[in-house]
Amino acid sequence: MMPMVYLDHSATTPLDPEVLQAMMPYLTEEFGNASSVYSLGQRARQAIDQARDEVAAFYGVEAREVIFTSGGTEGDNFALRGIAYRNADRGRHVITSTIEHDAVLRTVDALERDGFEVTRLRVDRLGLVDPDDLRRALRPDTILVSIMHANNEIGTIEPIADLVAVTREHSDAYFHTDAVQSTGKIGTRVDELGVDLLSMSAHKLHGPKGVGCLVVRSGVRLEPFILGGGHERNRRAGTENVAGIAGLAKAVSIAQRDMEKNVAQLTSLRDRLLEGVLDRIPAAEITGHPAKRLPHHASFLFQAVEGESLLLQLDMEGIAASSGSACTSGSLEPSHVILALGYPRERALGSLRLSVGKDNTQADVELVLERLPDMVARLRAMAPISAA
Ligand SMILES: *Cc1c(COP(=O)(O)O)cnc(C)c1O
Repeated sequence: MMPMVYLDHSATTPLDPEVLQAMMPYLTEEFGNASSVYSLGQRARQAIDQARDEVAAFYGVEAREVIFTSGGTEGDNFALRGIAYRNADRGRHVITSTIEHDAVLRTVDALERDGFEVTRLRVDRLGLVDPDDLRRALRPDTILVSIMHANNEIGTIEPIADLVAVTREHSDAYFHTDAVQSTGKIGTRVDELGVDLLSMSAHKLHGPKGVGCLVVRSGVRLEPFILGGGHERNRRAGTENVAGIAGLAKAVSIAQRDMEKNVAQLTSLRDRLLEGVLDRIPAAEITGHPAKRLPHHASFLFQAVEGESLLLQLDMEGIAASSGSACTSGSLEPSHVILALGYPRERALGSLRLSVGKDNTQADVELVLERLPDMVARLRAMAPISAA
């Protein structure tokens, strides 16, 4: 296999060896069911309890406020449906933004089909939700506001504490945030953000795939939607993913321990990418906020280039990156996030996301900066799409 430069850490991250080590016992000899009474089962229970304590400490909440899930998608679904269906007696209005992850957007679509009313707040050119827009959208029957902490495609960090303050001032609505991208990169203490619910996923911070958690502050009325046994205090049934949960807690502890060091390194690599690309590629621009952005996240629009074609070129050079667009049934669909920033369709197709991780080096970044200009130039010469 050719040496690879992995620059898609917003899609997923490699498992940290320390995390694997923490998981191994529960994938091998410590295979007990945490609900069993004998000591093999009770050791699994202890592992989950300890993991819950660690995750709770990381977010600044009580252990009983942490519900383990199968990841970010489930956390978002659970928060939205759980609040909507349990609180429909108080109102049926939900507020979110146009740049949320599909896990939120498809869920509010489903709520809408089920008789809930949804307001989708627009963002400005840099991807920010305006607290004044939220203030105007809040109604007496608003039961939930769900705004992501940081966006996966453009890296913009939303002013969650301000949005929470506006919500509290004008309504009794609960506030949920999708913190899948922000966890481990910027401060996500729930007591500081002030949110009622927060979802996260382990695989975006060097943990295993298929596990995450939903933080739910006590007193929040939430309808469970996976029914069965009494797991997770009757809120989410199913035999616990013990190895995954142990891995999640380890990933979070490592992120906390190394945050300062990692963020400094990530920021310097990211800044080099942002500057280098703008320097070397004509008609390129940064998407998302220049300052209020995730430390590992660089995203661009290139005029007259299809992002998908660029990804294939990069892949041939062993560079893994991402573009927001997706090819569905042969036709390219631009990302809903880039469109929401106000770019026309043609322009939105030319997006590229480079997200660095703690294993990336200066040399990785220099390689991309060396190769990318030629690739963009070649694509522009080969298959020019109109520079709308
Ligand atoms: C990756 C991601 C999700 C989905 O998380 P999974 O664990 O992969 O289901 C949700 N929201 C955001 C912002 C993400 O980046």
